[in-house]
Amino acid sequence: MRQKFALVALLLAAAAPTFAATRLTYPMSGSPTPIYWAKSAFPISYMIDRRVATAFSGAETIVNRAFDAWSNVPDADISFRPLGVGDNLQPGPNGQNSVTLMDDLFKNQGFVAATTNWYDIPTGQMREADIQIDTSMMRSDYNIQLALEHEIGHLLGLDHSAVLSSVMYPWISKNAPPALASDDSIAISAIYPKMSMDEMGGTLQGRVMGDGGAIFAAQVVALNDDGEPVATALTNSNGDFTLQPVPEGNYRLYAEPLDGPVDPRNLDGVWRNAQVVSFPTEFFGGKMHVESGKIYGNLVVNSAGSARLNPKWIGVSPSGRTEFSLGASPAMLKAGDSINIAIGGDGFTSGMTTFEVLNPGVRRLSDFKYAGNYVYAMYSVDKNVVSGSAVISVTSGNETAMLTGALNVQGTAPAAAPGRVRAIRRG
Ligand SMILES: [Zn+2]
Repeated sequence: MRQKFALVALLLAAAAPTFAATRLTYPMSGSPTPIYWAKSAFPISYMIDRRVATAFSGAETIVNRAFDAWSNVPDADISFRPLGVGDNLQPGPNGQNSVTLMDDLFKNQGFVAATTNWYDIPTGQMREADIQIDTSMMRSDYNIQLALEHEIGHLLGLDHSAVLSSVMYPWISKNAPPALASDDSIAISAIYPKMSMDEMGGTLQGRVMGDGGAIFAAQVVALNDDGEPVATALTNSNGDFTLQPVPEGNYRLYAEPLDGPVDPRNLDGVWRNAQVVSFPTEFFGGKMHVESGKIYGNLVVNSAGSARLNPKWIGVSPSGRTEFSLGASPAMLKAGDSINIAIGGDGFTSGMTTFEVLNPGVRRLSDFKYAGNYVYAMYSVDKNVVSGSAVISVTSGNETAMLTGALNVQGTAPAAAPGRVRAIRRG
């Protein structure tokens, strides 16, 4: 009897698939099913409404560039066919993917852009997707290309990412560059792989367990030697995760709670069924070397207790200035910068809480200073710093927690500015 039960449990576990990256996943015929475009749907055509195309000089080019950002991901088999500009395009299931202005349904809800996906049940195969942008967004100084890239990520079937520097992060910040993060590129390559998964990287599989059993929607991060969150995945309702494809290299792996800035309420479909479970951020043993084509399984983390420490905000200011505007947007750093970095959140203790920028090219020059519920220190960014997003590790007593993708290290990006706008979709 016991063997039979074990077998049933195993089958149940196998019935709930895990997906690399966070995909738009909805319950269909009783099982969580991600939505996707069939191979035959490519190139995906789209038409731009004239009011969008003429909102400002060069708007049509920017829309096309946003689509190109995804089709240019080297390992992803994605192509689009721009059909040009049309008059009075209507969103809705009419066989035409379109980029239009927002209709009254979304007006005054605080959204700046939205994407609606239509898909078959129970396959999850997409039929159409429409993107709508708010007029005020088109006139703002937010990066329209970045906002569109975010919506095109939804059009392709991606849900939000909790990596602050990711294009699929739920909020857009001013001056953020319209560059896909590693997490975005790997997420889309996993859905639409150009070659076999074995050629693109290795596979990391495991489970995250807490005091109350399996943890649903824990974020698992593959961190490379440059402190970059290369790939992330969320655990499914069984606590299982799959990271794939993870490019060859050395990684440390950690699991952290999805407890803000992004939590399950910022996701869609089945992810919203996850409760926020507080657990201390845990590493999976030491550094591991990942080779293409290999599967690294049974990576189980048991995290006991709940987390007190929860970093949520970051701010930067030029050296010599110590006023910060802390927010949940990634901070931009560039080579040669000398800046103060401040981190804030829950459970911060004056004199005790410290943090570390995991990119080795970002070096701390001063002692930590404390103000209110945040801590700050002065940093210099090496001339030859490695570009990409970076993780900040916060320590207080014997507890450690991460702000994953808190920094966006760039060669030529302007200084960070506070402020965020919500980009969300329905469907
Ligand atoms: Zn969104």
